[in-house]
Amino acid sequence: MNASPALTQYQIPLQPDPSAAVAKFLKRPPRLFIGGEWVESKSRERISVVDPATGREIASVADANEADVDRAVAAARKAFESGPWADMLPADRQALLWKLSDLVEKNMDELAELESIDNGKTKFMATVVDVAGTRDYFRYMAGWATRIEGSTFATSIHGPPGVKFHTYTQREPVGVVAQIVPWNFPLAMAAWKLGPALATGCTCILKPAEQTPLTALRLAELIAEAGFPPGVVNVLTGLGETTGAALVAHPGVDKVAFTGSTPVGKLINKSATDTLKRVSLELGGKSPVIVLPDADIDSVIGGAANAIFFNAGQVCCAGTRLFAHKKVFDRVVEGISTAASSIQLGPGLDPKTQMGPLVSREQQERVLGYIESGRKEGATVVAGGETPSSPGFYVKPTVLANVRSDMKVVREEIFGPVLVAQRFEDLDDIAALANDTPYGLAASIWSNDLRAVQRLVPRIRAGTVWVNCHNFVDPNMPFGGFKQSGFGREHGRAVLDLYTELKSVCMAI
Ligand code: NAP
Ligand code: MG
Repeated sequence: MNASPALTQYQIPLQPDPSAAVAKFLKRPPRLFIGGEWVESKSRERISVVDPATGREIASVADANEADVDRAVAAARKAFESGPWADMLPADRQALLWKLSDLVEKNMDELAELESIDNGKTKFMATVVDVAGTRDYFRYMAGWATRIEGSTFATSIHGPPGVKFHTYTQREPVGVVAQIVPWNFPLAMAAWKLGPALATGCTCILKPAEQTPLTALRLAELIAEAGFPPGVVNVLTGLGETTGAALVAHPGVDKVAFTGSTPVGKLINKSATDTLKRVSLELGGKSPVIVLPDADIDSVIGGAANAIFFNAGQVCCAGTRLFAHKKVFDRVVEGISTAASSIQLGPGLDPKTQMGPLVSREQQERVLGYIESGRKEGATVVAGGETPSSPGFYVKPTVLANVRSDMKVVREEIFGPVLVAQRFEDLDDIAALANDTPYGLAASIWSNDLRAVQRLVPRIRAGTVWVNCHNFVDPNMPFGGFKQSGFGREHGRAVLDLYTELKSVCMAI
């Protein structure tokens, strides 16, 4: 991230042509994946898919309507209740998931390229983060299929004389699951949803985000190729307000798993109340990056820059609010700003690109609107702050200083490459400052002072606290939010709670 001259930094190269495999995929007719078949939408409407690096349409996908939702739910219900999936041994579910992860690996290059031209991220990042993460996630969840447990426990039931009781619990799949995912890590978010559902024996209807439907459709082809029975996974491309809302309201759906914005999460939770569906919500964040006075400044600068600029800041746990102690504030902000100004923007398929465009024109305008609002409220733009000249949806990596905690840029989730930097003086105040947000997804603390760190960790109201690192996730490390960042934990053993019902069996013997 160093040493590129500032003048050429924001001259945006052209997007290279896609590979033959991707070009062929893009020409594929708009279809939905229902009951193991590729079918036309009953709506006949289309959603345009745009390459964020060029602003041009590259494909179109079907827009599923309520009738399509009905069909998908019926297919998922049928697959859940009868046929090969319902009777399948856990070891065979494990083998299918493992096979799917092998197919993801085999098709890594194509999937990464599709993700790059759909979302804007670099193909390099799509390869090492999104697609590799998807492969590993399916592989990890494959293991859980054969490790699902209940327990036996003592009871003190007063039964008829001489009668004893044998009591135990067993975990059973929750049923038909609607999975609604966002556009920032489209394939990986699909894997986080499908992996545990398939390991536990549920059936699924996946709705990718309207901006980024391509890898979910390619994944559906791989799911069929792996040999999952028809109806186990259904993929409906469509709009949130129609397809998504119909899935959430549908009485045939047992659970909704959602990742996305907090306002939509609240809507989903309300709508799901009517049918008392199980709901898990992984929502927005405004995660603090807390730099204590003793921290190693070089690693803070690299780590904090990555915390906010990774995936162009379109990360739910991005480190968006920097709190640096007054002794180190200037050095940290200067270092991050220098790093920001050296990041090479460009299209995702250009190997020289370090940061791609944002996902959509709407998101670009939203992020630029936040920067403008920060300026108007008195923030200083230390780096970036505008868009380079390009038809693509770029925003320069931006650092705002002189911010106050009542400013919109400090309070609201921006979901772009914009850091707001604040200085603090007293260690006793930092937890309150960090927690002064409706969100509670993640935080990072940068320090080698073990006592200070250990005292601070329990005071931070967030689902993940990183120390001397940020944005690292692992399939075995629970992930989810406190407060308005949602509820439920994905990954690890904890995710089994989201996809199973616990049944108590009480047997008189
Ligand atoms: P969003 O509206 O929350 O979208 C997430 C998913 O929910 C998409 O598949 C969306 O479909 C669907 N959806 C939207 N409205 C729905 C409804 N009423 N019922 C059921 N499903 C619905 O997020 P967005 O519009 O893509 O982005 C807006 C903001 O959300 C971002 O700027 C960012 O602040 C935040 N965000 C957070 C995360 C995260 O991981 N925490 C991820 C993405 C975005 P459509 O694609 O058709 O909208
Ligand atoms: Mg939306």
